[in-house]
Amino acid sequence: MGIYLDYNASAPIDSRVVDVMMNVYKNNIGNADSRTHDYGEHTRIIVEHARTQVAKLLDVPSEDVFFTSGATESNNIAIQGLKEYADETGRNHIITTAIEHKAILETVKYMEKSGYSVSYVAPGCSGEIDAGQVLGLASDNTLVVSMMHVNNETGIIQPVKNVGDVLSKKEILFHVDATQSCGKLVDELQSIPYDMMSFSAHKLYGPQGIGALILRRKNYKLPPVQPVLYGGQQERGIRPGTVPVALAAGFGKACEIALEEYKKDECNNLKIQKLILDMLKQSGLNYRINGDPQKCISSTLNIRLEGISSEALMLASKKYCGISNGSACTSNSYAPSYVLSAMGLSEDEIDQSIRLSWGRNTDLEELRVNFKELLDVAGEFIF
Ligand code: PMP
Repeated sequence: MGIYLDYNASAPIDSRVVDVMMNVYKNNIGNADSRTHDYGEHTRIIVEHARTQVAKLLDVPSEDVFFTSGATESNNIAIQGLKEYADETGRNHIITTAIEHKAILETVKYMEKSGYSVSYVAPGCSGEIDAGQVLGLASDNTLVVSMMHVNNETGIIQPVKNVGDVLSKKEILFHVDATQSCGKLVDELQSIPYDMMSFSAHKLYGPQGIGALILRRKNYKLPPVQPVLYGGQQERGIRPGTVPVALAAGFGKACEIALEEYKKDECNNLKIQKLILDMLKQSGLNYRINGDPQKCISSTLNIRLEGISSEALMLASKKYCGISNGSACTSNSYAPSYVLSAMGLSEDEIDQSIRLSWGRNTDLEELRVNFKELLDVAGEFIF
């Protein structure tokens, strides 16, 4: 199977996280919301400890952390959950970008069908959204602005801080999809003024199947979000359903590790990014980096190998590198990447693009050997 270079789809779980989860599975019984016995009380303590660990990573009060099944659910609650507030205030305009994950794009599409108007801001060829363009669309009618922090396909860091700084002085809600930055751009994420923020544990070496929606209180009041599911008072009614205790404990541990190690991770990621760029330069292949490399997170590169079909390359080099050419959520039905298309790439250029993403467990030497094989395979397509 070669080396795994698809961390943006899902990062391998950290073994320290697995240890914590196994301990919970083996030694704890019960539902964190049971009030009638100590089993419930013990599991509740585990969940609340995890909430504190998540909160610390983001430098928010733990009461602002709401566990969900992951970023997709968090995004849905953050947007769909505003319907009642929109009815009350008459605000029915949503601003987002053309390069959001489908978990936002399909949610706002659904809102559009229900009568909301949606503005989609396109990026420049750098892959970056212009903050001024986003803010220029905001009016008294705007309900919410939803923007991702880091794009999952290109790794381009978006100017969410600039947008948040301005919106925080207005009545408009600001939602940030931080799925690809959480646990990585720790300082930046802590400094962004947002009302709502979504992410999944499995992108920061935690378990799949859990994530969080952060709802920041202003003057002691939560953002006006209503649940999209009904059936219980868990997570203060915002996300009913039994909290998965071991997943929460693993998520908490993953956040604790991220806070301790993000600078070390960043150093390692930068070395890998540099190695990939050096090897590309030496390969003799004609290549381009999609998006501005200066604005790219250290754990991702989206590369166009001119004249080489990415589908054919991925198939032929499968035994060396596990890579992708877009989001995992759309990769079983091939369609040209809407992200690259919004950046102005032609269909041919998109067809020649691959995404590499790596992280904590990526070994420099293993990468050197396997990426060399991939480049050799690519060379054979040309010569
Ligand atoms: N937003 C972004 C930016 C993502 O990259 C992803 C996952 N690729 C999601 C949302 C959805 O995350 P999940 O599938 O864990 O719900």
